[in-house]
Amino acid sequence: MTQLSDDCFAFGGALMSADEALEILDRRIEPVTGHETVPLSAALHRVLSEDVVAREASPPHDNAAVDGYALRFSDLRPDRDSHLPVAGRATAGHPWRDAVPSGAAVRIFTGAVMPAALDTVVMQEDVTVEGDTVSVPPGLKPGANRRKAGEDIAAGAVILRRGARLRPQEIGLAAAGGMAELAVYRPVRVGLFSTGDEVREPGGGLTPGEIYDANRYMLRGLLQGLGCAISDLGILPDRADAVRDALAAAAGDHDLLLTSGGVSTGEEDHVKAAVEALGALHFWRLAIKPGRPLALGHVNGTAFVGLPGNPVAVMVCFLRFARPIVLRLGGAVDLRPSLYKVPAAFAHRKKLDRREWLRARLGTDDGGRLAAFKFDKQGSGIISSLVAADGLVELPERMTELSAGEMVDFLPFSEVLG
Ligand code: AMP
Ligand code: MG
Repeated sequence: MTQLSDDCFAFGGALMSADEALEILDRRIEPVTGHETVPLSAALHRVLSEDVVAREASPPHDNAAVDGYALRFSDLRPDRDSHLPVAGRATAGHPWRDAVPSGAAVRIFTGAVMPAALDTVVMQEDVTVEGDTVSVPPGLKPGANRRKAGEDIAAGAVILRRGARLRPQEIGLAAAGGMAELAVYRPVRVGLFSTGDEVREPGGGLTPGEIYDANRYMLRGLLQGLGCAISDLGILPDRADAVRDALAAAAGDHDLLLTSGGVSTGEEDHVKAAVEALGALHFWRLAIKPGRPLALGHVNGTAFVGLPGNPVAVMVCFLRFARPIVLRLGGAVDLRPSLYKVPAAFAHRKKLDRREWLRARLGTDDGGRLAAFKFDKQGSGIISSLVAADGLVELPERMTELSAGEMVDFLPFSEVLG
């Protein structure tokens, strides 16, 4: 009896808030060491391990922003049409290299290098052409429609910082700056498991009591978006020794072991016991919904994250807790997603002192304003609600009643997937 109540105290201690949990993660997790150089074509989702210094300016030369005629602004009359002879032609990749006589223009196309001494481009839609002469109406601004060399990237400038996650646009910028490859942290190696005697590989058929493994495939996609090297380690049975052996075997080759299911207080939940036998569990009861319980610890020094079993809780807990861990392990510096204020198109009641996430889609309310609409079925096994939703409404601990029209924090899935 004494033993039992000790255990109850140890397992059932005070709930930890979501912010406390995130703060602890920030302090305790160090990036993986080691980096490598990858070609731009393999850089998506990776994290820069060094600042990127532009080799070259972009654009490399002054060039035309439109199709039209390049000219000297000083040749134009401010009060009436100017008639300029067309002395040459410049297309993208084929500069006009000859000197342009004073008072003359050059036919030019978007992206073509500005001929020497010409400073302004008039759009072809704005002129009239007769024979070899172009007539330019008054009103053009000096330097109009000319892109300046280096206006995007100055040669030698730091264009991307260490710790930046490489999205398509970062890779495009690096390419424009003349980089063919980038120095990145090595990928975070994640060993991914599901747990549960009832959990089966999709497609194999089910006997009564069994369900297909949704979590492992969802988590795989989430991890891929973060640039991880994923080992799919399958489904673990609900047996303490099997879980312990599998975790121990995987720990050495991975930076993170990620499981779903088997971490509540039920006697069938063996993951917690296995982790405690091999390493430590830092905390596991969070004041959140959905999601509690969530296990965080280490197995022989390798980070361990045990997500809940219910698929919606898996997604929410991954996005809010596992994702910053993975990013931090991977050397990324920007770990917190942006939330956006939107009015709620629904009323809702919740428990005090618990952070709660609701699946919601964005739409327009009766007044034509953008608003968040709660998905009807909020059960934590309702995977279709994740598909229907655009993101999560995040309700703070102190709130107990939400009225329609009140502003809420909205986390778009697009902010955190990939
Ligand atoms: P547990 O935390 O192991 O008690 O699991 C909670 C709920 O999530 C149970 O209904 C499980 O059947 C379900 N569940 C656990 N793992 C998975 C999985 N990989 N895919 C789908 N559902 C799961
Ligand atoms: Mg289970």
